[in-house]
Amino acid sequence: MTSILWLRRDLRRSDHPALVAAHDAAGAGGVLPVFVVDPTLTASAGPARLAALHEALSGARESFDDALVVRHGRPEEVLPALAREVRAASVHVTAETTPYGRRRDERVRAALSPDVPLVMTGSPYAVTPGRVRTGGGTPYQVFTPFSRAWRDHGWRRPAAAPPGVRWHRGVTSEPLPAGSDGPSAARSRVDERGALERWHEFLDAGIETYAVDRDRPDLAGTSGMSVHLKYGTIHPRTMLADLAAVTADRGPDVTTYVNELCWREFYADVLWHRPASAWADLRPGLSAMAYDDPATPAFAAWQSGRTGYPLVDAGMRQLLAEGWMHNRVRMVTASFLVKDLHVWWPHGARHFLAHLRDGDVASNSHGWQWVAGTGTDAAPYFRVFNPVAQGERFDPLGDYVRRYVPELGHVAGRAVHQPWRVAGAYDGGYPAPIVDHGAERDEALRRYAAARG
Ligand SMILES: Cc1cc2nc3c(=O)[nH]c(=O)nc-3n(C[C@H](O)[C@H](O)[C@H](O)COP(=O)(O)OP(=O)(O)OC[C@H]3O[C@@H](n4cnc5c(N)ncnc54)[C@H](O)[C@@H]3O)c2cc1C
Repeated sequence: MTSILWLRRDLRRSDHPALVAAHDAAGAGGVLPVFVVDPTLTASAGPARLAALHEALSGARESFDDALVVRHGRPEEVLPALAREVRAASVHVTAETTPYGRRRDERVRAALSPDVPLVMTGSPYAVTPGRVRTGGGTPYQVFTPFSRAWRDHGWRRPAAAPPGVRWHRGVTSEPLPAGSDGPSAARSRVDERGALERWHEFLDAGIETYAVDRDRPDLAGTSGMSVHLKYGTIHPRTMLADLAAVTADRGPDVTTYVNELCWREFYADVLWHRPASAWADLRPGLSAMAYDDPATPAFAAWQSGRTGYPLVDAGMRQLLAEGWMHNRVRMVTASFLVKDLHVWWPHGARHFLAHLRDGDVASNSHGWQWVAGTGTDAAPYFRVFNPVAQGERFDPLGDYVRRYVPELGHVAGRAVHQPWRVAGAYDGGYPAPIVDHGAERDEALRRYAAARG
């Protein structure tokens, strides 16, 4: 008998419960690992996402001893055909938790022959979304109680690699999806080996300053693991097991890091319970909010990093250049779009998702909703990030701005955050601010007050 292992957000060999299940179910026919290039998903991905996928699949070929088969097409057509071709007895997957992934998997289940089950084992999370609940059995609405319950629930140890997996070989594979020349932050290769190397590097030198440096976009103070978690080149449980072994003197940094991993789990849990929140307000309180049309030069200026606000522009250009943006700057750029330009958050979320290598619908849409005041946080609608104050505080020497905005390269120190105060600052062609932040902040608060009645 042959088992198909249909890989999606789990492009690794180690700590892979679905691989263990496929191996246990397979007889002499062995395990056939397959990745289906789904046109629905590649159509919405920009060059950086496609480049990362290409890298992750190249690496998965190595991880799976060159047995990985790539096929292009709609999964509900490709998988039943492949199952017939190799006479598979079962198709194994890591359970998907996003709205599109869940619908797609149900279509595949229905399209497979009744004697070929779609078997789901594990998830891309330490605790499978939907499992952590309040005492009354309802989902958590707020992060802090969720995080407590999530820690109390705990997680399994990493799954041991099955010994001597027999691969099913001799099946035709199609080319990898194009995209090898997209932009890259190049902090690590997006494959299993790159994930483990980057992770151990961070544990050796990085975690001890994480709690302090994580908010500084000018420093390499974060782990850079999001792209690996996105493609599943590492499982978060592996990371949590390693963190549990880190020495006690790094306690605060470890606690902070585990908390960040928990945000990823929380947002996946929220999306599991409320799939519509991927692209619509989670809470209805601001449904009467007046937004502006995104089809304006201001939206285009935001997308290309030419708003005249240096921290916003540096972030938007980092996104286009590297397919990644620092978390603090994601908050500031998102706030600028929603509260200074008055554009509804899904328009910005789509732009981020297309360009981020780590683009993940749960973390992205709920990160945006947190900023917009429509999401899980109780009352943040009045929180409006000041891009100048944020720049002066978190990029205190101005290095981050100068790295991504070369027109301001001649402006020294933190003065770069207020070029309108520096003689000659605009000589390099940097644009003047497209809006007045103070006035737009007042306008945002006025619209929020009106929407809340
Ligand atoms: C508007 C907005 C959009 C975002 N979009 C995404 C996205 O598409 N994909 C994505 O992975 N993250 C997203 N985030 C969260 C966060 O910005 C990134 O996870 C982080 O910048 C990744 O860099 P890192 O791995 O070096 O982070 P580290 O600081 O090293 O954090 C470690 C891990 O914790 C998780 N994490 C950290 N912060 C958050 C957070 N606020 N929410 C959820 N998980 C978090 C990530 O898995 C990350 O890899 C978004 C945040 C905002 C405000």
